[in-house]
Amino acid sequence: MKVLKFGGSSLADAERYLRVKDISMSCHTETGAAVVLSAPKGVTNALSLLCEEAAAGKDYGELFAKLNMVLFGILDDLQKNVPNFTSTKLSEFVQKTLNELNQHLEGFALLQCAPEQVVAKVLSVGEYVSVNIFSEILNAIGQSNTIIDPVDYIIAEGDYLDSIADVSASKARFSDVDNSGKDVLIMPGFVAVNEAGEKVTLGRNGSDYSAAILAACIDAECCEIWTDVDGVYNADPNQVDGAVLLDKLTYQEAMELSYFGAKVLHPKTIGPIAQHHIPCLIRNTLNPAAPGTLISNEASTKWTSVKGISHLDDMTMFNVAGPGMKGMVGMASRVFEVMSNANVSISLITQSSSEYSISFCIHSKDADRALDLLEDSFALELSNQLLDPIEVRHDLAIVTLVGDGMRHSKGLAAKFFSSLSQARVNNVAIAQGSSERSISTVIEAAKAKKAVKVVHLNFFSNLHAIDAFLVGCGSVGKELLEQISRQQASLLERNISLNVYGIANSKKLLLQAGGVDLNSPWEDSLNQSETPFS
Ligand code: ADP
Ligand code: ASP
Ligand code: MG
Repeated sequence: MKVLKFGGSSLADAERYLRVKDISMSCHTETGAAVVLSAPKGVTNALSLLCEEAAAGKDYGELFAKLNMVLFGILDDLQKNVPNFTSTKLSEFVQKTLNELNQHLEGFALLQCAPEQVVAKVLSVGEYVSVNIFSEILNAIGQSNTIIDPVDYIIAEGDYLDSIADVSASKARFSDVDNSGKDVLIMPGFVAVNEAGEKVTLGRNGSDYSAAILAACIDAECCEIWTDVDGVYNADPNQVDGAVLLDKLTYQEAMELSYFGAKVLHPKTIGPIAQHHIPCLIRNTLNPAAPGTLISNEASTKWTSVKGISHLDDMTMFNVAGPGMKGMVGMASRVFEVMSNANVSISLITQSSSEYSISFCIHSKDADRALDLLEDSFALELSNQLLDPIEVRHDLAIVTLVGDGMRHSKGLAAKFFSSLSQARVNNVAIAQGSSERSISTVIEAAKAKKAVKVVHLNFFSNLHAIDAFLVGCGSVGKELLEQISRQQASLLERNISLNVYGIANSKKLLLQAGGVDLNSPWEDSLNQSETPFS
C-alpha cells in the first residue's frame, strides 16, 4: 500500500479534488492507497486569522462569511459536475462544523483570548471537511472507503499546536485498520491526540508529517507527497528563476533543506520515513506525468556536491556574553535549558572559541518570551555584571547551503561567502554542522531573497551575470544600448547575461527590476518615468 498526501495547493477547488481522486484511484488499483488530505487551500490560514480576530475583539463576520462561501462553493461545484454526488449529508456536516466554529469564536471574543487547546480544534476543522468531501467523491464513483480519524490513532506529545508523534505507540493502534487494499483509506492530516485524549495539531504545514507517520504505522511501500511543483528544486522555484529540479535527495539532505526553510516538505516528515526506510516521492498534482524527486538512502549521481539553498525568515538572534562567561562551566547548558523548558526551538547556535559569548537564533514569535525567561534566569549574573545585557537582533534570516557531498569538496565555503559579499550582504553569524552537510549564515532578512538568488547563480549556473546601468543616453549611450541589444545572443553563447536594469538622462531615471527590454520603446518609458534623476 502507498500513502499519498495532497496539500492545500492540490485542494484549491472542486476540479482539483477530482484530480486528486483520479491520482488516488490509479494508485489504488495498483497497490492500494491511503490518502492523507490537508484543508482546502487557504482554509487553515483563514481559521487562524479568525481565532486571532475573535480573541482581539475584532469583527470577524466578513472573513467567516468568506470561509462559508469557499466551502459551500466547492460542494455546489461538485454537486453540479459529478454524477451521483450527493451533498445533502455533506452540507449538514459542513453547516454543523461552521456552527461549532462560530461558537468557539464567540467564546474567544468573550474571553478576549484563544486558549491553545481550543485553537487546535478550530485549526483542524478544514482537514475534517476535506476528508468528508473526498469520501463523498469516492462514494459517487462506487469506491468503498474508510475515514481514519487521527484522534483514535496518532498519539502525540508536546504543544497543542506543534505536537510530536509517538510513532511506535501509534503503530500499535493501527493494528485494527484493514489495509488489505479493498477500501481507500482517508485520513485528515495535521491532527493527532495527546495522552489526555485532547485533539492537538502537528504544527503548520504538518500534513506532510501526518503522511510520514501513517506510512510508518502501516508499513507503506512508499510515501508520496503531492503538491504544486514538480518536486524538490535546488531553491524555491517560486522565488528563484532558473531553480533546478533535483532527481534524488538523501533523507539527511531533505531534512536539512526543509529544516532551513524549504516549505515543500515539513521538517518533521523525514524522521518516521527515514527510520522505517520508506522511500518518499515529491510529485506535482498539476503535472502527474513528471517523475518527481525521490527521497531515500540513495544519493543522486547527477548532483554530487551542493544540492540546494534554502532560507528561513523571521529569525531573531540572541547574544549572551559577558566577562563572567569565560570558563564558567555549564553556562551554555543553562542558556539552552531555559529555552528547552520554555519549548522554544533553536534554529542555529554559534559560540566564540574564547567562550566569551554564545549566540543563537530562534523564531521571532518566541523572542519576547525567551528574553523574559533568560533575564529572569540570569538575574543574578546580570545584576553583578558578570553578564552584559542580553543582546537581541530582530529581522534576520538564515541562508543555508545543503549537500551530502559538500564534505568532499574544497572551497565551497569560500564560494558561498564570496557570493554573499557580491550580494552586498553582511554575515551576522555563521554555523557549519559537523557533518559538513550544511553551512548557514545569519543575515538581515531584507537581503535574504537577493542573497539566495546570487548564491544560486554562482553555484548552479555557468552564466556570468552583469547588471548594467546607463547614465546618459544621448547618441553614444543610445548606440551602446543598441549594441547591447544586438549582441545578446552572442553574449549568451559565451555564458554572459548582460542586463540593463536602469537608464537615466539628465532629468529622469528609469529602473526596472526585471531588466529594461531594449526592444521596447524604452525612450518613451524613460520620458514618462516619474523618478527624477538625482
Ligand atoms: P502544499 O499545499 O502542497 O503542502 P506548500 O505550499 O506547503 O504546498 O509547499 C509547496 C511550495 O514549497 C512550493 O509551491 C514552493 O514555492 C515551496 N518551496 C520552497 N522551497 C522549495 C524547494 N526547494 N523546492 C520546491 N518547492 C519549494
Ligand atoms: N492545513 C494545515 C496548514 O495549512 C496543514 C497542512 O496543510 O499541511 O498548516
Ligand atoms: Mg505544505
